[in-house]
Parts: sequence; C-alpha cells; structure tokens
Amino acid sequence: MTQTNGTAHTEHTDATPLFEVDDLHVSVEGREILRGVNLRVRPGEIHALMGRNGSGKSTLANALMGHPKYLVTSGRVRLDGEDILGLKPDERARLGLFLAFQNPISIPGVGTGNFLRAAVKAVRGTESINAVQFRKELNERMQRLQMDPSFATRALNEGFSGGEKKRAEMLQLAMLKPRLAILDEPDSGLDIDAVRIVSEGINLVHEQQPETGLLLITHYQRILNYIKPDTVHVMVKGRIVESGGAELVQELESAGYAPILRRLGIEDEEEAPVSGR
Ligand code: ADP
Ligand code: MG
Repeated sequence: MTQTNGTAHTEHTDATPLFEVDDLHVSVEGREILRGVNLRVRPGEIHALMGRNGSGKSTLANALMGHPKYLVTSGRVRLDGEDILGLKPDERARLGLFLAFQNPISIPGVGTGNFLRAAVKAVRGTESINAVQFRKELNERMQRLQMDPSFATRALNEGFSGGEKKRAEMLQLAMLKPRLAILDEPDSGLDIDAVRIVSEGINLVHEQQPETGLLLITHYQRILNYIKPDTVHVMVKGRIVESGGAELVQELESAGYAPILRRLGIEDEEEAPVSGR
C-alpha cells in the first residue's frame, strides 16, 4: 500500500511493516470467531477497521493484546518483526503495543495521575521520568482533551461518564507513546462534541508521534470525518473482506454493509443496515 495521508511523514513504503498479522484464527470459548485475519501497518499509518456489531473487531483487539480468553489457534502476529504471540499482555505493552478498550474498567482507589505514572514507568521501563516533567505533560494533555485537572486525582474511570472514560483512554495513549495503538471504538456512546475532542486527541498523537501506527476500530463512519485513515478495512464474520481508501467509508455511510456483502457473495444474515443511526 503506497497510499498516504498526504502528510510528509508517511513515506515508509519499503520499510519493514511495524505490525503484521498473518492468517490469524481466534476462538473464544470453543467457538471460532476470527477466521483468517491479515493486516499490515507501517509506521505512522492510520488504519480504520469497520464492521457490524459482532463481526469480531473487539475479538481481534483483545487477541492482539493477549487477553487469555481469546485463544489463537493459528496465524502469526509480529511487532517490529518480533513474534509476540508467546508474550504476556504486559510484555506486549513493553514492546509498544497499546489497546484502548471499548468498555474501560474503573480502578477504585487508584488516582488517574498515579495510575498513569505507574503505567508509564512499567511500559517505558528504565527511561527516567522526572515527576515535575510528568505532571507538566499530563496537565498539557488533559487540557488538550478538555479534562478538568481534578481528574488527575480522581480514581481511574470511577464515576466517569462515557465520554470521560474515552478521554482517559486517549490520555493513556498520549502518555504511553506506544509503537502501535489499537483503539476499540473510541467514539462509541459519545455525543458529537465528545467525538470531536477524542478525535483531536488522536490526531494530536498522530502529529506528535509520527511513527506510531494506529488501528482505529469503529462501527460508525462519523469519527472518520475527523480522522483521515490511510486504509479502511471492512470486517465481516471474522475476516477482513475488503480494504481500500476513503471511498469505502462513503459507500458504507450511504448504503450500509449490504452492497459490499452482495458484491462479495456473502450471505447477509442481518436485514437492517447498521451504518448510521
Ligand atoms: P465486534 O467488536 O465487532 O462487535 P466482538 O469481537 O465483540 O464483535 O464479537 C464477535 C463474536 O465473538 C460475537 O459473537 C461475540 O458474542 C463473541 N465474543 C466476543 N468476546 C467474547 C467473550 N469474551 N465471550 C464470549 N463470546 C465472545
Ligand atoms: Mg466491539
């Protein structure tokens, strides 16, 4: 894929892919959910993964992060050329993999600022982080995400609204500076203003960490009004059935998934198009 965002920093056509997924099969509780997923992300690229509910998007995200419930039965996943499937989630994180959850959990009793400090230490390891500098960066990032400073001392996600939880995930993304970030529906449940703020947070990460690859999972097209992906993938029943450019988003927006399924000769088990609401 030679296509770029039109930005100067995505000229990695011949570079080793940052992230490679080959023929990945994943089962959950004995049922095969992913049935051969292939994906290649180069440094700095933004990939959007779209698909109806239940198509396997979160299963992919969880399996890539090493969630024990998601059993990889075959296939390969490499980050910077290194096979990561034998690694535990925290080891994957240290290699630079990051997942923003679709449904973030709360951590009672642990302040958001302290949590982030510990997470940054754990993931970035020996790299020394000056406490003053950390607070400064944290405050700046929170400001950009329009989070009140009080969030730093509140328990992570406890009593946060849907939008606040998503912003807290984007704050983690910004502070952890991963190599590859998987964002599972960062737009779900948000009103349009919150979608815009979260999108700006993602775009800022893209700007400030131009080598970071982004896999943006979304059910709806609207976040893609703010974030311009290099490549768009459509997942159906545990496989990526089509990949292309922005025109794919337009097609999904105007006609839903049915025409793509018809074109590919996939039987449509769901009558009502899900695109938009
Ligand atoms: P999407 O994120 O695209 O909406 P999911 O990956 O969440 O889809 O779900 C795909 C399928 O896998 C669904 O049939 C869902 O019920 C099943 N599945 C996903 N996670 C689990 C789980 N933890 N336990 C049982 N079934 C699961
Ligand atoms: Mg999901």
